[in-house]
Amino acid sequence: MPHRNVPIFIPHLGCPNQCVFCNQRSISGCSEFREEDVARQIDRALQTIPSDTETEIAFFGGSFTGIDRGLMCRLLDLAETYVRAGRVTSIRLSTRPDYIDGEILEILSGYSVRVIELGLQSMDDSVLERTKRGHTALDARRACHAIKAAGFSLVGQMMIGLPASTPESEEFTAREIVALGADAVRIYPTVVFWETELCEMVKNREYTPLSEEDAVRRSAAVLRIFTEAKLPCIRIGLCSGEGLTSEQSVMAGPNHPALGELVWNEYYYQNLLTALDRASLRGREVVLYVPEREVSKTVGQHRRNVERLFRETDTRVRKIVGEKERRETVAAVWQAARREEEQPCI
Ligand code: SF4
Repeated sequence: MPHRNVPIFIPHLGCPNQCVFCNQRSISGCSEFREEDVARQIDRALQTIPSDTETEIAFFGGSFTGIDRGLMCRLLDLAETYVRAGRVTSIRLSTRPDYIDGEILEILSGYSVRVIELGLQSMDDSVLERTKRGHTALDARRACHAIKAAGFSLVGQMMIGLPASTPESEEFTAREIVALGADAVRIYPTVVFWETELCEMVKNREYTPLSEEDAVRRSAAVLRIFTEAKLPCIRIGLCSGEGLTSEQSVMAGPNHPALGELVWNEYYYQNLLTALDRASLRGREVVLYVPEREVSKTVGQHRRNVERLFRETDTRVRKIVGEKERRETVAAVWQAARREEEQPCI
């Protein structure tokens, strides 16, 4: 069944922290929150969602479990009425690790909360400190264990390119998220918003924003860790549809509207290189045998990967064959392959 979220953005409510990268007004795409508007927002969103959809009311934007307790419960009560009426399936929310404890989880258990998304931006304490996250990696581990033990589904949200972060610390964070039992992940390359401390750090030359190329390469490296662990990646990069990526919001950083697609292209390009190297076929004319459902991603948008392979390695792809049973990409010499029976190709 297709899945849709009905997002309700709660900007900075209840969050006493000021992570260097965060401008909640930009991140939530909304500068004001009015409790009395929430039901109308949900009703409006539901009108556009087909009935045969698994729909969740999603409290995003701030640290939901850190807001005023009365408001949190009133919002959950409201969402619950939609669940009971059969208009939505369940509730999801996002929060930070140090706003999860036994009492909070007990409250959430009394509602139809299915998914808790946790900001696990880094599991490296030096990065957490440099970004003024206000919690440690140990806090994050404790929160993940508690969420899983209470039976919730866990989504880890990690960031790429934070101050003091390296490709190694990001890959470490990804492996930790896998080990902590996350059920899905989101990857956010760091974008510099106006009116943040990170913005000042850029002006003072204390921080260099990620280039688009680095963001793609580093995101693809953690994506590989998640993919190999069979963890679905449900988002890469900020959502342009919510006005987050406009020049009014963003000062610098990898702000490409199709960043996720570029990262997946890179992921599949690296698969091609691995297949070629395994068969020592760089620079030859080849036929590629690819899992059937991955043919178009392997080719890349507008044949981007095939053309890049030729440009960068002088390897000419003569044919790509999608195979139902195949699990990974394999390269063979075209001359040898064409003696075999012809197969459907792209
Ligand atoms: S904890 Fe979340 S909401 Fe609060 S400042 Fe940091 S990123 Fe923003």
